[in-house]
Amino acid sequence: MEPEQDARSAGGGAEGLLSELEARVQDVVKASSWWERHGVDCAILALSLLAVPAGFLCLRSENTLVFASGITILGVCHYTLTVKGSHLATHGALTESRRWSKVWELFFVEVCTSFTAEYAEYGHVKMHHGYTNVVGLGDSSTWKLPCLNRYVYMFLAPFLVPIVTPLVAVERLRKVELGAALRTLALISLGLYSHYWLLRHVSGFRSRGSALLCMLLTRSLLAHPYLHVNIFQHIGLPMFSLDKKPRRIHMMSLGVLNLPRQPVLDWAFGHSLISCHVEHHLFPRLSDNMCLKVKPVVSQFLHDKQLPYNEDSYLSRFRLFLSRYEEFMVHAPPITELVGLQ
Ligand SMILES: [Zn+2]
Repeated sequence: MEPEQDARSAGGGAEGLLSELEARVQDVVKASSWWERHGVDCAILALSLLAVPAGFLCLRSENTLVFASGITILGVCHYTLTVKGSHLATHGALTESRRWSKVWELFFVEVCTSFTAEYAEYGHVKMHHGYTNVVGLGDSSTWKLPCLNRYVYMFLAPFLVPIVTPLVAVERLRKVELGAALRTLALISLGLYSHYWLLRHVSGFRSRGSALLCMLLTRSLLAHPYLHVNIFQHIGLPMFSLDKKPRRIHMMSLGVLNLPRQPVLDWAFGHSLISCHVEHHLFPRLSDNMCLKVKPVVSQFLHDKQLPYNEDSYLSRFRLFLSRYEEFMVHAPPITELVGLQ
């Protein structure tokens, strides 16, 4: 076969494989109730919102154990609302209503996370999902800080996540319309100021410094796994060039990795970012609960078709990144040439 014809038939085959998998996943979705499609994840987010007052009240206590519980409740709720909530809202996976999707996106991304909804959608949905592991587009390079050494990056940099996030948001506002920029600034300020106000007036923090320190502590409680998970699931896997990027099914099966289930991270980040990242990249509009439900169908399908299904443990990725930090996080990634998969 001629090389061009070979590539074309491989492309056609890939399209066929993806349609076959889509049909199987659609069957599972059609057979699922509203509770399974959206309810479970909405309930987790509602519970997290309802637990917030208890967290602020616990911080009034002089008892160390109650105070520590307050920090834990507020920290875990913060990550559930900002990571799971923002991620699902940005993908429109929380509800089938467009208007409500927008409302949730503004609430979770701007009020809770102090980030811009426009840029979250552009950077995550359009670039990272549209061009997964394509060098210069969706290659996770925004997570790289080559000026830092491996120990500073892996252990200390996560503490800066809550400070850097609103600063990056403000920097990105230069590229959006004035109206949207003013709305984002107002919603980010509302989120940050109400957090501070509640610590001063409900939790009873007497000084500004202690309230700000408490904000930093709760907002960086799960920052380590957050930063790690973002690099573990793509960097170090095959990377592609734009002109030779593979078909979608190959791009996702080669360039995405699943971590094992872990109760705290499943709750706070969601299955789509932990044990079902491959499923999430193939079907980004499915909620966390649905990603978990279709996982056996997707993994079996990829195994049957002899396509890669990357899985590794958190600890093993952690060790790998520490030992090969320069190669993964400092140098430009080598491009994987895939003959016939474009
Ligand atoms: Zn996503």
